[in-house]
Amino acid sequence: MSEITNMNDIASNLETVEKKIRAACERSGRKRESVTLIAVSKTKPLSDIEAAYLSGCTQFGENKVQELMEKQKHCSLPLSWHLIGHLQINKVKYLPGAVKLIHSVDSEKLAAEIDRQAAKHGVVMDVLCEINIASEESKFGILPEQAVETVKRIATSFGHVSVKGLMCVAPRTDDAKTNRPYFRAMRQLLESINGELGEDKRLSEFSMGMSGDFETAIEEGATMVRVGTGIFGKRDYEITA
Ligand SMILES: *Cc1c(COP(=O)(O)O)cnc(C)c1O
Repeated sequence: MSEITNMNDIASNLETVEKKIRAACERSGRKRESVTLIAVSKTKPLSDIEAAYLSGCTQFGENKVQELMEKQKHCSLPLSWHLIGHLQINKVKYLPGAVKLIHSVDSEKLAAEIDRQAAKHGVVMDVLCEINIASEESKFGILPEQAVETVKRIATSFGHVSVKGLMCVAPRTDDAKTNRPYFRAMRQLLESINGELGEDKRLSEFSMGMSGDFETAIEEGATMVRVGTGIFGKRDYEITA
C-alpha cells in the first residue's frame, strides 16, 4: 500500500518538476533537450527508483559510492548512474564502468586516481570539476580563484579522464534568486577555462541547480539539474554532500 502511494506521489512530483523545467527552458529560449534531469535518489529505496523510472527518469544520482554500488547491484533496469557527492580516493576503483559521470572531481590528485583506475578498466571516465562557487568553508570543491589553473591541469593531464564541464552546489537558500549570481559566475568561469583550452577540450556541461533553485539554474545555463526532494519527497535523514 505505501509503495503504491509512493509511486503516485513520485509520478505527480515528476510531472510538476517536468513542467517547471519546460517553463524555465521557455523563459530562457532554450530547448527542453538541452537540460538533463538527474533524479537524486540518495537514502531512498530501490522501489522509489523503479517508480521514477516508470515515470520516465533514466538518470539517477547518488552521493555515496557504497550506496550507489549496492543499489546498482540490485537494480536490473537500464539506468545511468551519476556520482554527485564527495569522492574519496580509496573509493575511485569502483566507479569506472559503473557510472556514466562523476560530478565531483575537486583535485588533481583525485583526477590522477580516476585516470589510473579508468586505464585499468580500459575506459575513459567522463567527469565534471566541482567548484565551491560561494567559497563556503563547509563545502568541497575547487575555489573559484584556483579554478582556471586547476581545471586546466586536470583537463589536459590525463588520457583516461575527460572533463566535460563544471558542477556546483550553491548555498542553501529559501530564495532561489539569491543563487543567480553564483550560477552566472559558473558560466564566466567556464568561459575563462575554455579560453585556456584547445578546441577539442572545450567544456560545455553545467551540473547546477537542486530542488530549491533548479529553475534559476536553467535560466542561467544549467545543462544538468540534480533534483532529489522535489521528486522523492523529504529524506528521512540528511546526509552532507
Ligand atoms: C542531495 C543532493 C542533491 C539534491 O538535493 P535536493 O535539495 O533534495 O534536490 C543535489 N546535489 C547533491 C550533490 C546532493 O548531495
